[in-house]
Amino acid sequence: MREKEQLTEDFTLVSPRSVFSLEGKIALITGGGSGIGYDIAQCMTHAGATVIITGRREHALQEATAALGKSAHYVVNDVTELDSLEGLVETIEATYGPIDILVNNAGINMKKPALEVTDADFDRIIHTNLNAVFALTRACAKGMIARQSGSILMISSMAAYYGIDRVVAYAASKSGVEGMVKVLASEFSKYNVRVNAIAPGFIETNMMKTAMSSDPDRMNRALNRTPMGKFGKPQDIGWAAVFLASEAACYITGASLPVDGGNSIGF
Ligand code: NDP
Repeated sequence: MREKEQLTEDFTLVSPRSVFSLEGKIALITGGGSGIGYDIAQCMTHAGATVIITGRREHALQEATAALGKSAHYVVNDVTELDSLEGLVETIEATYGPIDILVNNAGINMKKPALEVTDADFDRIIHTNLNAVFALTRACAKGMIARQSGSILMISSMAAYYGIDRVVAYAASKSGVEGMVKVLASEFSKYNVRVNAIAPGFIETNMMKTAMSSDPDRMNRALNRTPMGKFGKPQDIGWAAVFLASEAACYITGASLPVDGGNSIGF
């Protein structure tokens, strides 16, 4: 048993305000003009970060940055245009400074029985949710590794873990992201670059509404499968993202954090 005096000596007292702060940090958030990405941007600006949000729809990005305030900026970018991603990072870093935090949030889903999914459908989902995530991560990680500092977040899904019908390509893409997190975390940890995922459950966004609209009974089934008995809000993912990007999570890498009202307890 250690003496009390020794315990206090080992512990450097820092205020929660400073350890969760993103003051002075530059965060790039893909798909930040709406849904979960917008709320991640909102939570990160509240925590002190300057955020750069991307997406394909300029009007959505304009509205979002206006609502987010002076710490938010946007760049129109389609993540599936892989050749554009190195240039995107260069432009952002030249304009706003080195990217400290990357949030790979942009993603698409499609609900079809597996036997109706075409090769083109499958490729489209994998290209957006997996290939683009790797290409942008690689583009950002080069600078982070050189600076020996950075935090990379992937927005995964509980679909990576559970057999949810009619999302075969989506589940494959998010499982790929989960695997990528572990390899990148292992390769980058010696450079003080952390890589983690958040695995959301049912979060109230357009993506979820679209997924549920084709099957009205699905909403009730989803609620019944959620121990907390309610759907999540995009902000629930936003605060988890702030935590994982902050110094409070400085010893967390290669993790996937479920934010799902208890879905991960088991179906
Ligand atoms: P939304 O459909 O509400 O928003 C998706 C965002 O991604 C939009 O801002 C869209 O902007 C952007 N986006 C889509 N494709 C591209 C592209 N090719 N290039 C750039 N941006 C793109 O989805 P959510 O907010 O619900 O989802 C966000 C993330 O969370 C996704 O990765 C999703 O898989 C994940 N997730 C969501 C869950 C949920 O229940 N909602 C559950 C689990 C995971 P624009 O159209 O302007 O390009």
